[in-house]
Amino acid sequence: MSDNSLPIFNLYINGQWRAGRSEHYEPAYDPATGEVLAHVAKADAEDTRDAIRAARQAFDHGAWPNMAPGERSRILHQIVNVLEEHQTELADWEMHNSGATWRKANLMDIPTGLVHFRHFARLADFEPLEPLPQITFPTLSYNFVRHEPIGVCGQIIPWNFPFLMAVWKIAPALAAGNCVVLKPASYTPLSALKLVEIIHETGLLPPGTLNLVTGPGSVIGTELCTNPLVDKIAFTGSTEVGRDVMRQASSTVKKVTLELGGKNPTLILDDAELDIAVEGSLWAAFMHNGQVCEAGTRLFVSGKIYDRFMERLVDRASKLHIGLPADGTTDLGPLISAGQLRTVEGYIQAGLDAGATPVLLGRRPTEPELAHGHFITPTIFTNVRNDMRIAQEEIFGPVLSVIKYDSLEEAIRLANETIYGLAASVWSADIDRAVKVAYQIRAGTVWINDHHIISAEAPFGGYKQSGLGRELGEWGMKAYSEVKHIHVDLSRVRKNRFWYDILTPQIDD
Ligand code: NAD
Repeated sequence: MSDNSLPIFNLYINGQWRAGRSEHYEPAYDPATGEVLAHVAKADAEDTRDAIRAARQAFDHGAWPNMAPGERSRILHQIVNVLEEHQTELADWEMHNSGATWRKANLMDIPTGLVHFRHFARLADFEPLEPLPQITFPTLSYNFVRHEPIGVCGQIIPWNFPFLMAVWKIAPALAAGNCVVLKPASYTPLSALKLVEIIHETGLLPPGTLNLVTGPGSVIGTELCTNPLVDKIAFTGSTEVGRDVMRQASSTVKKVTLELGGKNPTLILDDAELDIAVEGSLWAAFMHNGQVCEAGTRLFVSGKIYDRFMERLVDRASKLHIGLPADGTTDLGPLISAGQLRTVEGYIQAGLDAGATPVLLGRRPTEPELAHGHFITPTIFTNVRNDMRIAQEEIFGPVLSVIKYDSLEEAIRLANETIYGLAASVWSADIDRAVKVAYQIRAGTVWINDHHIISAEAPFGGYKQSGLGRELGEWGMKAYSEVKHIHVDLSRVRKNRFWYDILTPQIDD
């Protein structure tokens, strides 16, 4: 470690902060300036096992899983109250570590995360019992379902929305009575660490209920996915790693939920209201520089309005202000890393090589204050064929592929021609027509005349290779529950059972 004045973050295991066994720390950077923000403990497999054992102990013998729902809910509400007092500080960490603009961090990332946390605090309050219809076979019985916590949940999150992703994992798992080991992404651990630090300081959770380990995904992730003491893996990240997570978790048949990548279509119908559709397409594609799983990175535009629409879109995109995130006028900040910048440039080259037309070509800005960050301006390609790499692969950068269409049927068919199925948006003045289009899109979320709107009450997740299961809403809560059927016989008479004749026919009643 070079600078002792910088914050140090340790591992959070069994209610205590401690260094990893190796006593090794990794720097966490600001992607806009290259500055080191803090040093973060690097856990190894044995540290991860410590965290898993702490969660196991807390689940098997601690108070949290058996607490009355109302009590758990009260504690989670209290935690959100305290988090709300730290909004500005959390937004600051988010901005510096993830490259979120000041506006995005303060107006969206942190407030949305807190609204979602509050939602699960509320859901925790419901008695997890569901009656079943009256059953009379083989005898009269009373039947009901009880939703019970799954147990120890290993949770692995990506770097693009570190605070929100941490909340989406921790809040429903705790609300349903589970114990947690969270692993943030190596590029962006700081807001999740701060979140856990604030929760720790409330002293409200029993030790071991919530644990956090930082370090390489290949080591910590693999331990979480294969350790027999872990009951569930919740993973958000790329489809490539998601496949590996599923494979690893299969050795102990863990419950698995996966939130993976997307190559999401935005469909502009010929009757779309241009004012909102142009801005909406820009928002869909370039929010957080396109480093968003549900970004609308394939834009299908009706030939009837194509020229007018594209002229306005390119004009607006060329005016987006690329700058330092802390500047309140900045629209787009940096990409997360030098590696991601090279990946994006590689895709731009692939688009050029495939013959797409760059109506706006991304470049590294030349302003001196941006020289140490991973900045690139937006790219828009036209003349894109749906089989080009820039139309099929998730780029995770500000690169938009535009496809002009003649018939809506053709646009829908092309929109569905992808391995992904996370989200889509449809833009039209005719809502009935737009809803019919939405029915035909194979994706977990379809927005009509909007994009990127993720509500606490609504399920979020992917069709096809965009994932498995759903987060948020009551679906998100159920993804952290086992379902137990309880059957209570009401007849109490032995000879009324059908099995009585099968097993013991010779015995006379
Ligand atoms: P990634 O798949 O590279 O990494 C995700 C997490 O997995 C990180 O914490 C990483 O350390 C860990 N990891 C790496 N190797 C692992 C392994 N072998 N076993 C277990 N864990 C491992 O993804 P990323 O680059 O951090 O994030 C971008 C990706 O996340 C994009 O594909 C994006 O679409 C996806 N994403 C999806 C959603 C969604 O809700 N569907 C939300 C945000 C991001």
